[in-house]
Amino acid sequence: MFLRSVFTKILIWFDNSNVKVADNVGETIDWVRVIPFILMHLVCLLLFFVGWSPIALWVALASYLMRMFAITAFYHRYFSHKAYKTSRITQFLFGVLGATATQRGPIWWASHHRRHHIYSDKEKDIHSPRHGLLWSHMGWFLCLKNFTTQEQYVGDLVKFPELVLLDRFDSLIPIIYAFFILFLGQYLGQTYPELHTNGLQMLIWGYFVSTIVLIHCTLLVNSLAHVLGTQRYETGDDSRNNWFIALLVMGEGWHNNHHHYPVSARQGFFWWEIDMSYYLLRAMSLFGIIWDLKPIPVNRLHSNLIKKGQL
Ligand SMILES: [Zn+2]
Ligand SMILES: [Zn+2]
Repeated sequence: MFLRSVFTKILIWFDNSNVKVADNVGETIDWVRVIPFILMHLVCLLLFFVGWSPIALWVALASYLMRMFAITAFYHRYFSHKAYKTSRITQFLFGVLGATATQRGPIWWASHHRRHHIYSDKEKDIHSPRHGLLWSHMGWFLCLKNFTTQEQYVGDLVKFPELVLLDRFDSLIPIIYAFFILFLGQYLGQTYPELHTNGLQMLIWGYFVSTIVLIHCTLLVNSLAHVLGTQRYETGDDSRNNWFIALLVMGEGWHNNHHHYPVSARQGFFWWEIDMSYYLLRAMSLFGIIWDLKPIPVNRLHSNLIKKGQL
């Protein structure tokens, strides 16, 4: 009986459809389910054994930036908020790229995020720091209760079978990505010995270290961006603008702006609020890959200011 339950939980690592609604209770951490998450942190320690090379660090940085863009510009601004439009194929391709960030599928991600906006910092907000800073950072998604998708919030997304499939087998995507990074390191090490890299070194830096930093930086928006920073708008919650987090996560640190007007494609509302994801989205719109980027209306820019007349 015990073995069967462990086996079922291990199956859940690979196929989310194995989660039964009856299991979906309580806010206790499901330790079997989160073993891969813990192991990913421990594997990062292998960097002391594999050493480093400039190429491994560059690949780690590129891997971080590319996937952070997929999370902020697509998982967040597109799938969660529909801040612009794109084709079905681009939607799917960036859904896959977002899944390599190892933050589950786009439908699961959007469902919990939409719920966050509805109940922001209220009792039903699943990751408000008012329920504990550590909980808001990484407790909420480690419990079985929040493992399933909140389908009532994502009726528009579950219409796409390819996205539903991506969500069901979300963990296979990072596994394929990790193998790609491993083979890349192997290829570079053999073809260009002067780079002093190899498959294992590239895997540790390009996938594991890059992914763990990526995950925690993304989570900072849920945790610290509701605690540290400034508030320009009266949003009825604790959301803050934090320039440091904005730099780390390519724009999403302008979180008080975002809670004030969530459907805006732009989160840094002014030229001095650096928003890398928005600049890249603008570039993509020039090539016709995306279109109808929603601006922030001028009257909303000046409404609900905490200090009247002062931006
Ligand atoms: Zn928030
Ligand atoms: Zn949002």
